Amino acid sequence: MNGSVRGPGKGADGFDTRAIHAGQAPEPAYGAVAVPIYQTSTFAQRGVGEHSGFEYSRSGNPTRTALETCLAALEGGATGLAFASGLAAEDCLARVVCRPGDHVILPADAYGGTFRLFANVLDRWGLAYTAVQLADLPAVRAAIRPETRLIWCETPTNPLLGIADIAALAALAREAGALLAVDNTFASPYLQRPLELGADVVVHSTTKYLGGHSDVVGGALVVGDAAFGERLAYHQNAMGAVAGPFDAWLVLRGVKTLGVRMQRHCANARLVAEALAAHPAVGLALWPGLPSHPGHEVASRQMSDFGGMVSCRLRGGEAAALDVCRRTRLFTLAESLGGVESLIEHPGRMTHASAAGSPLEVPADLVRLSVGIETGADLVADLVGALDGAAAG
Ligand SMILES: *Cc1c(COP(=O)(O)O)cnc(C)c1O
Repeated sequence: MNGSVRGPGKGADGFDTRAIHAGQAPEPAYGAVAVPIYQTSTFAQRGVGEHSGFEYSRSGNPTRTALETCLAALEGGATGLAFASGLAAEDCLARVVCRPGDHVILPADAYGGTFRLFANVLDRWGLAYTAVQLADLPAVRAAIRPETRLIWCETPTNPLLGIADIAALAALAREAGALLAVDNTFASPYLQRPLELGADVVVHSTTKYLGGHSDVVGGALVVGDAAFGERLAYHQNAMGAVAGPFDAWLVLRGVKTLGVRMQRHCANARLVAEALAAHPAVGLALWPGLPSHPGHEVASRQMSDFGGMVSCRLRGGEAAALDVCRRTRLFTLAESLGGVESLIEHPGRMTHASAAGSPLEVPADLVRLSVGIETGADLVADLVGALDGAAAG
């Protein structure tokens, strides 16, 4: 393969060094420091079967390879694969790992799209699932069947910010002969590295913190085992939902600042969570960094900080939740998360509307915040103002 584009990805370098250099050695022709966007579908061959390592951009593209190498280095994995979206990555993983007749354990508050994929698409493909609170390890154990092939973990969860013990789930999965997949979208590899805790595969929506600027949709898988990586790469090419060169470049550009962005996201989330916890209109503030959070102890063990996502339940019920979503000025009402700008949303009517009536239905009084990297005091003032207004009616 093209060594100059892939770069050495030295394991001994620190996280931020890997984010900026892994897979991103200066380009050889002109010395471009930024990885070029190889916006091409095909590559000239010197002779039949004699090529530079790239033949056709679905099978491989140097910009995508740079991102895949970098993501593998950040998660501490052997192989990274970049997809057109997080759900494309999930679909590829599920259909490589499972066969018709297999069973999957899903978190009881899984990302809505993950739930929809398993409940409404992969069900027709012959996959059964059970939704379980992953923090309840005896319940997970009880849900395991002989045909359980995959335990799907999200931690922190979306949107209730529940915490699951990755190392404990990895042990359960191993015992059951199943694989543990961890959707690491909310934490990012800066805060949490599931492969080091025993997970078999890490899933990302790179749309969120990895891209970080709300300007691209993408997904990724990272695995610790190179042979497993090869099977996934075969299917990535065979199924075709790859990340395009420009999208791969945008994510790679975002990844360079992941560390500094996550530090600010976490610091701002702390300010916001503490302000919410102290506000009389809020019944419950949900952020794993609050000592009152039921997952605080496990999160302290497996994460280096607690992330930029904060949720809260309003004492005034759904009407108050919808009202707060209308009243913020800096928090933009929008789906998605993980960008530099702060977002607010109502999961019950927005991101998780498709889970209504299912075991994954979310409370109607819930508001979810993606806390951005603006000036923290401005964000707190914006939210407190909206809460005061909503409480006053
Ligand atoms: C957004 C998201 C996904 C799906 O990713 P897309 O890029 O939107 O396809 C999966 N898991 C989590 C936790 C997410 O937030």
